[in-house]
Amino acid sequence: MIDIKDLDHREDARIGVYICHCGLNIAQTVNCSEVALYASNLDDVTVSKDLIYVCSEQGQQQIKDDILENGLNRIVIASCSPRLHEPTFRQMLKDAGLNPYLLEMANLREQCSWVHMNEPDAATEKAIDLVKMSIARARLIWPLEEETIPVTKRTLVIGGGVAGIQTAMDLANAGISVALVEKEPSIGGIMAQLDKTFPTMDCSICILGPKMSDVNRHPMIKLYTMSEVVDVKGYVGNFEVKILKKARYVNENECTACGECAKVCPVIRPDEFNQGLSSRRAIYTPFPQSVPSAYLVNINECLGHNPAVCAKCIDACEKGCIDFHMSDEEFVEKAGSIVVATGLEAYDPTEMDEYGYTRFENVLTSIEFERLMNAGGPTKGELIRPSDRRRPESVGFIQCVGSRSTGKGGKYCSNICCMNTVKSTFMIKEHYPDIDIKVFYIDIRAFGKGFEDLYMRSKKMGVRYIRGLPGTVQQEDDGSITAAVENTVSGGLEFFHLDMLVLAIGIKPAPATRKLQKMLGLQLSPDGFFLEAHPKLQPVDAATRGIYFAGCAEGPKDIKESVTQASAAAARAIGLMHKGEITTEPITAEILTDHCKACGKCAEVCPYNAITVDVKKKTPAVVNKAACSGCGTCAAECPFGAIIMNHFTDIQIASQIDALLEDKPEEKILAFACNWCSYAGADYAGVSRLQYPPNARLIRVMCSGRVDEKFVWRAFAGRVPVVLISGCHIGDCHYINANHWTEKRVKKMHKKMEKFSINPERLQLEWISAAEGTLFAETMKRMETIRRSVTQEELSEASNIFSNKKYIMA
Ligand code: SF4
Ligand code: SF4
Repeated sequence: MIDIKDLDHREDARIGVYICHCGLNIAQTVNCSEVALYASNLDDVTVSKDLIYVCSEQGQQQIKDDILENGLNRIVIASCSPRLHEPTFRQMLKDAGLNPYLLEMANLREQCSWVHMNEPDAATEKAIDLVKMSIARARLIWPLEEETIPVTKRTLVIGGGVAGIQTAMDLANAGISVALVEKEPSIGGIMAQLDKTFPTMDCSICILGPKMSDVNRHPMIKLYTMSEVVDVKGYVGNFEVKILKKARYVNENECTACGECAKVCPVIRPDEFNQGLSSRRAIYTPFPQSVPSAYLVNINECLGHNPAVCAKCIDACEKGCIDFHMSDEEFVEKAGSIVVATGLEAYDPTEMDEYGYTRFENVLTSIEFERLMNAGGPTKGELIRPSDRRRPESVGFIQCVGSRSTGKGGKYCSNICCMNTVKSTFMIKEHYPDIDIKVFYIDIRAFGKGFEDLYMRSKKMGVRYIRGLPGTVQQEDDGSITAAVENTVSGGLEFFHLDMLVLAIGIKPAPATRKLQKMLGLQLSPDGFFLEAHPKLQPVDAATRGIYFAGCAEGPKDIKESVTQASAAAARAIGLMHKGEITTEPITAEILTDHCKACGKCAEVCPYNAITVDVKKKTPAVVNKAACSGCGTCAAECPFGAIIMNHFTDIQIASQIDALLEDKPEEKILAFACNWCSYAGADYAGVSRLQYPPNARLIRVMCSGRVDEKFVWRAFAGRVPVVLISGCHIGDCHYINANHWTEKRVKKMHKKMEKFSINPERLQLEWISAAEGTLFAETMKRMETIRRSVTQEELSEASNIFSNKKYIMA
């Protein structure tokens, strides 16, 4: 248990301060020797030097020698951004025998010399302040230890479509065992329903089928079909997953799929796999290549196993595989990582009445069309009209059904429908060159490898592409369709007579998405698909460590992209687990159990469900360090100051504020910036040499959620005119949604300021991304305008109010 008294190490501090010239990058604006001289006179500073390049071999050696010769136990390096060289200098401390967390950096290049190039005096003054703030903080930092935790070398893959199959195979072939969970009776997903794949026109099940069998045979893969994940506990390396497996009523290990049972079953129902275009029995197999290759009973359709009622299938099965006493089972699987490959749901066009899907028999979806064209489908691959079973002479396709729409369906492009239609036109023309084909589109998106070629070949075969979507669709007496289309190329209204109409339906997130999102603490994009940790640099990682995405779970994709992403997810999972252990970052929250009142607030705000508190039994909070990502939101929200946020403690941050306000506080702007977005945005302003007022002083926190209202009140008590809190844009938070709590907190603080008749303008909140250097510089100029408007009386009034101990920590 932590004792708060143990946290004050300032008596032991022997600090070495190193001011880097960075060649001329810093030194041409900042007087580095003056800064070093100033620092040498501060308490606890044992060594203070300015060096030409601190990061060079010689520079690092100099520091290591000083550590040994002078017994230094804290190092302050004032140089470039910590985002660039913090890992280098931490390693240097390690090499010199010091704990790497006894390092503190001041950013004199990106956030000082480069952004105040024409104001050397002001830049030097700012550099002195930044170094002073770093020294103040360095006194109060303490060693932190990375922990090593064992990892279960097993991955749970949720979803058995092509992405889940590829992930499972890649993992298993690399020697990692896999539990593959699929909700349907067979793996294969939507790819199993397709006739051909674009742009290569391979037979879909011919390339997928062998992979499905490989999964089933692989000794490292345990397959759970008709199963769902119902609960997930634990954290990276050590997840515990509860799986509910529905009863199949047929022993899947014994069944040979001979089909004798189905022959005698009297129940006839629409066949889901064929989109209701054919029928099946109550005991059935979803499709001939199903894996596992076993029948199942839909118990809700079955007439009953009582021989007096039916039970014909029991008599028909010579192997005795049918067991009506089977019941649902629960399994618990341990896994070190999880891959979410839950796939997609096809858009249901029934709400788009204008296309007559529910009213006209010859209006089909693209998946129904796919089954009609499939040799294993209800017509054995013969293209016929459902209304009169005659071959159509003309077929129309309508694009973007349920996609790119602000009204019905999704606003996003479903990515695959254009090429799927191009493929379908090709399939028709190959078999029936005389069928007339029209495609109604907004624009054709043929962006992938080989796509444009297929599109051109389809045009050459005589397919007519018409830019414009039908406004209305009417059925004629003979069952054919008339579509009224405004041709946006010719500008005229045209009428098309078609025997059959196919709706190119879009892709929606899978139905299980929301449930899994809650269970796993994941984040969704506005479109409802899972949100990756970073769209460019971590495209298959979830923000929660140890969880990865594959396939359409993360957004609409074609087969090739799904397979690519699946292999990437498998590689990420292997990378995590291959050593059998992982190290956890020590920047985590810790509970002062003596102070904790078990109110539960911290558990409520933690985006990673890393805290447990038994509110009823009043048991103090417990942080799961492996799950904690170190945002600091809990520490900012705890009403009783019972949480220590390692490396960003209250007193460490307060010491920076105090140091900054020691001199001429009314001339300064205090800005808190989150490490991932706004601090990086400030660095980007520096890299772009954008100039802004030199009186801004930044305090880096990992997340804007860490900014406790006490920090702001302390700054006002110290007579700062304006405070900025900046972080990642809503939806982009590096810590899932911690910045929502920042937003709420700032609103509360504004109300409090209004109550005290303090102008709320003095506390600003701005979302600034890593790419928004311009916004950062503009924001700083705006802060300066606000600062200038604050009067001495206002400063004094706020200072009087907030100097009360109630508002600031001691
Ligand atoms: S918010 Fe603070 S007091 Fe409340 S349970 Fe969490 S640690 Fe304990
Ligand atoms: S620091 Fe953030 S991630 Fe860690 S326990 Fe607190 S709220 Fe959760």
